Amino acid sequence: MRAVLKNGQAHNGAIDIVNFSLHYGTCIFEGIRSYSKPDGGYSIVELTAHVERLFESAELLKRPITRFSKSQVSEQIIQSVETFHDRNLYIRPMVTYGDSVMGIRNRTPEDIWVLIWPWDIDIYSDRYMTGISLGVSNVRKSNPFPAAKVSSNYLSSFVALNSDDSQSYDDMIMLDTFGFVCETSAHNLFFVSGGELYTPTLRNALAGITRELVIRVGESQGIPTKVCDISVSDIPSFDEVFIVGTASEVVPVRSVGDAIFSSAAENSITTRIHSQLRKAFLEY
Ligand code: PMP
Repeated sequence: MRAVLKNGQAHNGAIDIVNFSLHYGTCIFEGIRSYSKPDGGYSIVELTAHVERLFESAELLKRPITRFSKSQVSEQIIQSVETFHDRNLYIRPMVTYGDSVMGIRNRTPEDIWVLIWPWDIDIYSDRYMTGISLGVSNVRKSNPFPAAKVSSNYLSSFVALNSDDSQSYDDMIMLDTFGFVCETSAHNLFFVSGGELYTPTLRNALAGITRELVIRVGESQGIPTKVCDISVSDIPSFDEVFIVGTASEVVPVRSVGDAIFSSAAENSITTRIHSQLRKAFLEY
């Protein structure tokens, strides 16, 4: 079962072949998770921050959302989540710019979509228990508006993950315009060394909401984060590596190229951060 709302009304989810955002890479979107709680309730993690980023993305593209307020969009999301019995869900609000492709100076009113489907995380799968492998891509992240979560920003990730050099890895580390480590195709990156976290700057990376939460959880555990430039040649010197994002929470990395890491070990900082974060998700 999935739920779709278009401009606040139930919808079958079909879009027209001349949808402007499909042709010109201007679909703004968010990825949000909700969790069923043991007491029968549910939590929607950082709903306000996600709705804010949706509106900020539209501002960055010079087409601010005018059809609804932030609280109206949040309310639509809450009401849709409540139609599900099991609230372990993935929620994708989207903004598209109408069904016309005539002219880039688009003046068509924006459409606001809310798409929701069941999506649980299996934290006992190999991905979490042993960790994933990363390669380093030749494709650079060089988005003009990195702070916007917009479909065109996934072009470099798409090319990176479909290139021959990526086929033996689970995901690829992408470098920024200066050649420093940036993020993976759709996750922010963290490294661990000497009991501290290191994460790249946001020069070309998305300002991930999970990244922010990890920094906060780290601080509460006495594990500070340094935001700094990281070179590919620095990577083997780290003790652990992990990637973060709303859809997958925290995923340990077992290797980057030939370098091996103990990120998935039971007593690793990666594992500690992930379990603290999971605890926090059920307290929203
Ligand atoms: N970077 C990119 C490119 C992403 O697409 C995402 C989310 N899918 C992230 C980072 C993580 O962001 P968040 O924690 O807000 O989900």
